[in-house]
Amino acid sequence: MQIVDRILTIIITATLTSAVWIVAGGSLIENATADSQRAATRPAEAAPSPVPPIVLGNDSMMEPGATDAADAGGLDVETVATPDADTARQLMVPVKNIRPGDLTDTFSDTRGGGARMHEAIDIMAPRGTSVVAAAPGVVEKLFTSKAGGKTIYVRSPDRLTIHYYAHLDEYAQGLKEGQRVRRGQRLGTVGSSGNADDASPHLHFAILQTTEQAEWWEPANAVNPFPLLTDR
Ligand SMILES: [Zn+2]
Repeated sequence: MQIVDRILTIIITATLTSAVWIVAGGSLIENATADSQRAATRPAEAAPSPVPPIVLGNDSMMEPGATDAADAGGLDVETVATPDADTARQLMVPVKNIRPGDLTDTFSDTRGGGARMHEAIDIMAPRGTSVVAAAPGVVEKLFTSKAGGKTIYVRSPDRLTIHYYAHLDEYAQGLKEGQRVRRGQRLGTVGSSGNADDASPHLHFAILQTTEQAEWWEPANAVNPFPLLTDR
């Protein structure tokens, strides 16, 4: 008779445990829904499956505590969401085959015989090397100026940041104003157009903080690209 009692105990424990797991699974799904609303790009991976907790609950040796599964579910969501957020913030070195360690901080150099600050970084590279978008955005203006030569103004999706690429040799074929570009997309080639020295082709890259309403040509606040490109 003791064996029957033991079996009954196991069945009752298993049933109660399953009920706990089902409730725990329900709260996990609620958490996952809230998380997937925050990280809408990865809904499938953000939502933990309710199946594994129920399977675990059938093990009568397991304590009927839901904390293990809840912790594991929370960790899963965290590890999925965190790298994505970091990647979205990072800038890419906007010249192909140039690594962060190759860069020199020239932001505070003077130009025009000391009349003004450089407020950009010069990225040295052979003429014809691909210039790529440091971050996603919209090509707001393709502009040729005496100083910058062939230039590109790419505006961030929130319109608060403009990336300025200057001294290009050529624009990428078909590149046009209003076009959306993704990070790493080819924009053109390194050159020395404008007031750059023909003997040292380079990309002049500036980051300008502006306001939503400001035009591309209006004065904006330059921030140093060097720490943003190298600090990772
Ligand atoms: Zn420069």
